[in-house]
Amino acid sequence: MKIGILSRNKELYSTSRLFETATERGHEARIIDPLRCYMNITSHKPSIHFKGEPLEGYDAIIPRIGASITFYGAAVVRQFEMMEVYCINESVAISRSRDKLRSLQLLARRGIGLPVTGFSHATMYTQDLIDLVGGAPLVIKLLEGTQGIGVVLAETNNAASSVIEAFRGLKQNILVQEFIKEANAKDIRCFVVGGKVVAAMMRTGKEGDFRSNIHRGGKAEKVKITPEERSTAVRAAKIMGLNVAGVDILRSNHGPVVMEVNSSPGLEGIEKASGKNVARVVIEFIEKNAQPGKTKTRGKG
Ligand code: ADP
Repeated sequence: MKIGILSRNKELYSTSRLFETATERGHEARIIDPLRCYMNITSHKPSIHFKGEPLEGYDAIIPRIGASITFYGAAVVRQFEMMEVYCINESVAISRSRDKLRSLQLLARRGIGLPVTGFSHATMYTQDLIDLVGGAPLVIKLLEGTQGIGVVLAETNNAASSVIEAFRGLKQNILVQEFIKEANAKDIRCFVVGGKVVAAMMRTGKEGDFRSNIHRGGKAEKVKITPEERSTAVRAAKIMGLNVAGVDILRSNHGPVVMEVNSSPGLEGIEKASGKNVARVVIEFIEKNAQPGKTKTRGKG
């Protein structure tokens, strides 16, 4: 098969693992920087050009679209869809999962466990917003943050209102969330491919930090997940319409709660922690499922 990996950087662990695995399995693989693609979107002959040549004859695309290029990256994926090329994650599902509010609303609507969550942009009714989600301690997040930046724990109502007011001054969308203390600075990343959890890891925040992000000095290890965690991860990926997803879960007193569903989950941490060959599972899924113009899952909204 001819497989295109949409990625800005061929040196990234995830990109190179997918490339090598596809090549080892006898496929013709190519890494394509989505920002360097340019397109003709007319309906009778949609095309994509890259480095002066048309991209032709692809059987499958693996989008690895970084958060900072979601808008253009999703448009490139959509263009491949217009050309009837199978994309392992659809453009609409990628955009949907990148919109945190939309994702949480969709997950809530379908009964997925979530921390009690509120969101706001410019309310002056700070105390009412705090009361709405049950009062301190609260986690307050900038909607646009990644890798744990802009995620603050406010232990008292006073601290919470100061943080909310500061963020309001910055004209930011914010999430205000119940603090899941019992998660103990740990979260679980479930790597889902084609409706199955194929690997899982537990991340633990560095000493004194409630955030478990590896970028913030957290560590990852293998974990055995419960059947409820497994089904939560699988359902969350399905609701997002993603064939490949990284579902982040906290262990709360009221069962597993989903933090986020990631449409381009990294392979390095999960392969090292779980010992599983996740890249091979992804390529095998494509071998079984790639057909022109067909993407397996379709979420709503
Ligand atoms: P980012 O997308 O920037 O990584 P997250 O929302 O995933 O931000 O938060 C970063 C980390 O902070 C999570 O992995 C988790 O360990 C911790 N965290 C986030 N929200 C909560 C919460 N409501 N209760 C407890 N811990 C949380």
